[in-house]
Amino acid sequence: MAELRCVLGPGEMPWVDELFEPQELRHCIRDLVALSTLPAIWKDYDTRQIADSVAAALLSMLHADVIFVTVPGLRDEPVVDVTRTGQAVSIGSSGHIEGILRGASRGDREQISAIDNPLGKGTLRIAAAPISFGRDAAIVACSVDPQFPSETHRLLLGIAANQAALAMQRRHAEAEQRRLASVIERSSEFVGFAHLDGTPQYLNNAAYELLGLSGIEEVQRLNIFDFMAPHERARALREALPMVMRTGRWLGELDFRHFRTGEIIPFLVDWFRIDDRRTGHPTNMATVSRDLRPQRKLEGDLRRLNESLEQRVTERTSELAKALERLTLEAEERLRADARAQQLQAELHHASRLTAAGQMAGALTHELNQPLTAFTNSVNAGRRMIANDPPYRIDTLRDVLDEAADQALRAGEIIRRLREFVTRGETEMRIENLPDLIREASELASAGTGPHRVQVRLSFDPRAEAVFANRIQLQQVMLNLIRNAHEAMAQSEMRELEVVTARLDDKSIEIAVVDRGSGLPDNIVKHLFEPFHTTKSDGMGLGLSICRSIVEAHQGKLGYEPNCGGGAVFRVKLPVPLER
Ligand code: ADP
Repeated sequence: MAELRCVLGPGEMPWVDELFEPQELRHCIRDLVALSTLPAIWKDYDTRQIADSVAAALLSMLHADVIFVTVPGLRDEPVVDVTRTGQAVSIGSSGHIEGILRGASRGDREQISAIDNPLGKGTLRIAAAPISFGRDAAIVACSVDPQFPSETHRLLLGIAANQAALAMQRRHAEAEQRRLASVIERSSEFVGFAHLDGTPQYLNNAAYELLGLSGIEEVQRLNIFDFMAPHERARALREALPMVMRTGRWLGELDFRHFRTGEIIPFLVDWFRIDDRRTGHPTNMATVSRDLRPQRKLEGDLRRLNESLEQRVTERTSELAKALERLTLEAEERLRADARAQQLQAELHHASRLTAAGQMAGALTHELNQPLTAFTNSVNAGRRMIANDPPYRIDTLRDVLDEAADQALRAGEIIRRLREFVTRGETEMRIENLPDLIREASELASAGTGPHRVQVRLSFDPRAEAVFANRIQLQQVMLNLIRNAHEAMAQSEMRELEVVTARLDDKSIEIAVVDRGSGLPDNIVKHLFEPFHTTKSDGMGLGLSICRSIVEAHQGKLGYEPNCGGGAVFRVKLPVPLER
């Protein structure tokens, strides 16, 4: 005791003063030894188990009635509150006491307080010691013993709190370390530590896998520069390493190599220096490096995608260009078709002028009568003057003859005008394509036939394709025949029209226009090709007579025969054009 006092001094260790009894000193030493062995027992304990163990130890060492240990939850750990009670305290009342002690634990822990004993008579004396593990962590001990707490009690309480704090901190640090280690282990990045001389100390699983390394024995025989592709070593040694040592860090791309396959693997390398916290001297170096292959693959895929997109855009553009070309061709075709339609329109117009001409011919006949009658009268008057009335006056006779000449000229003028109107001054004949000519005439004829749907069938003999004709005039013939056929079938049940060409022999070809219409009554057939025979209320009866004239002007023949199945057949016979 005296020795202890001498070494530590009574002021620094007040508890020493209490231990004048050898028995108590023995107990105290026993308790201190017991407390010092606890951390070894707590090696695998969690916070709750540590708190419970320290509470149990103190309950017996301090002869306390209640020990309450409270530890706030740190990080993801739960809050720990442990209460151990002596025999005097029932389980039921411990909850009540716990509430009181929780309040006491938050006060000044060094302060010894006393409260009315909630368990019975007298006072309950309370002593608390903070645990340096999070705010408000503490051990609170209480006892009904009026001597509580002695200095020894407070010493044991303080040491127990310290031991618990150290154990909890160590456990916490180990958990942190484990967490960190598992993050590094599970990382897909290459993580490694090495001595400053380049000897590897640690590689994570990803590093082993990425470089095809078998185990730590193999790694320990290597140097970190062996990890790199041969062509990178000089750069790493001369550029990167000096920079790591000088500035603490180098970040850049380096090619590594696979130890089994020899594959060159590009890495983004973060290479850094680790310094001793206290001295600041470099102790190790480390790296966290990323395999760039997936990124390169993505870049490659993206590049290929871009190229294929460009390719597709080019293809599409050329498709579009082709489509545009097609459209242009179609537009040109349409323009040509429009021009053709306009031409047909003009011809239709001309054709209708021809029909009108037919009608006009009637009117002109009437007109011609006048000058012809006047001419006849003048000539008769002159003849009478010479025969019956001598001596006649020569002047009067000249006047009468002049009048006759004037009337003859007038009649001639009327005829010339009609001829000009009908032929439009065109009498040119040339080799024409007969099917084309018929097709156009059929289109024109069908154009104004009203709502009746006539089934038209055109059938052409390839040996009867050429005809020597004035196209407009021959078309006018076809137009008339086809239109008559349409009109004849307006009331028919069967509306079938056939235009058939045929080579009859070496010299002639024939065009037959066959319909299933009303046919022709005998009285009409007799005068069919004579002018002014018509059964139509608005007809002139001139069409067929003009047709026959035109056909005959082409050295041909136009004839009619009844269709045996009902209806009419008109046949145009024309000479085969001479070979040129
Ligand atoms: P229009 O048609 O002005 O009467 P056409 O000379 O063309 O003059 O015809 C004379 C008449 O011949 C017509 O009124 C009609 O009675 C008859 N005809 C012409 N073609 C046919 C036909 N295919 N079927 C029946 N009758 C016809």
